[in-house]
Amino acid sequence: MENSFYKISKTVSSLSAYTPGEQPKGGGWTKLNTNEFPYPPSPKVREAILQELGDDCAALRLYPAPLSDRLRAEVANFYGVEPKNAIGGNGSDDVLNLVMRAFGDENLKVAAMNPSYSLYPVLSKMQGAELLELDFECGLKLPLEKIVSSGANVFILTNPNAPLGVAFSDSEVEYLADNFKGLFVIDEAYAPFSGKTFSKFAASRKNVLCVGTSSKGWGLAGMRVGWAVGDEDIIKTLDVVRDSYNIDRLACAAAVAALRDSNYYENARRRVVESREDIEKFFGEMGWNYVKSSSNFVFVRPNKKGLSPAQAAKSYFEFLKADKILVRFWPNDKKICDGLRITVGTPSDMQKLKESSIKWKNQE
Ligand SMILES: *Cc1c(COP(=O)(O)O)cnc(C)c1O
Repeated sequence: MENSFYKISKTVSSLSAYTPGEQPKGGGWTKLNTNEFPYPPSPKVREAILQELGDDCAALRLYPAPLSDRLRAEVANFYGVEPKNAIGGNGSDDVLNLVMRAFGDENLKVAAMNPSYSLYPVLSKMQGAELLELDFECGLKLPLEKIVSSGANVFILTNPNAPLGVAFSDSEVEYLADNFKGLFVIDEAYAPFSGKTFSKFAASRKNVLCVGTSSKGWGLAGMRVGWAVGDEDIIKTLDVVRDSYNIDRLACAAAVAALRDSNYYENARRRVVESREDIEKFFGEMGWNYVKSSSNFVFVRPNKKGLSPAQAAKSYFEFLKADKILVRFWPNDKKICDGLRITVGTPSDMQKLKESSIKWKNQE
């Protein structure tokens, strides 16, 4: 991409952009590929956005609050911590980027599990920080000693893990908080579906940061609001590297209203969890291996006579796609190329998935 006009920074020139899940154009798709919430956000979100807009949108002339104080206060209230322990971001991707900026560089390495969220390598490399990818132990256990002795300045635990959906135990998390000599980041994008958050725990420790998002558990992926909870000194450091106005007025109003409406979300999440249990049962009946999920997706390994596991995954993915059902598949990743990550949708989405799955299984 170099030309005779400009040069590209050495760190950036070797990078490639993150590959997000496909957002298909046109209607008719059953979209089970990016773990979005299957139900609309709380009706209070609409009210809050309209209120923020007012009759003439006059508020939009003004910059938003630089610290997004309302969001910090609401996040703090939600997790039972102090506002000084909270920060907001333009999606949790933004917050993760702040973490890398503040705590990663050529000499400060970052570590994460493999597989986990494929954005981490992109963000860490942007800071010139090496990303150490650690393997799970048998039974998807965390390699606790390897993490502790990794020498990394930051360890990011995706809990529950994506793309596998497993959640880790209190004792594993506490062990790492006590023994990892660096910043221990817990990415809790899917915690609303496991029912377990370590945010309050994080605020009570010097070296733990919990990152959350309204995208998965609150149905607000389109608004881009994420946050982090942790020790005040960590939050202050993140504030140094943050964009001045990193959450817009409408997004802030929406996220605050969503966080307040616990009743609505508890009910909607219960339906997601019921659909998850139902589709796991279905996969079991198909004779397919799946990872028991604590999240809003299931990682399943389909099988079919005459096909290798990777061929079966590819064939199933393509069959679903031809049926306008989109799921996530990483054919080039040796660790997970034999399975698909399928987002839990509405009961009618899941019905379509089941019917298409049976057709695939029975097809010669
Ligand atoms: C989706 C996701 C995020 C990012 O969510 P935002 O939409 O940027 O808030 C972060 N971590 C994991 C593991 C995710 O799956």
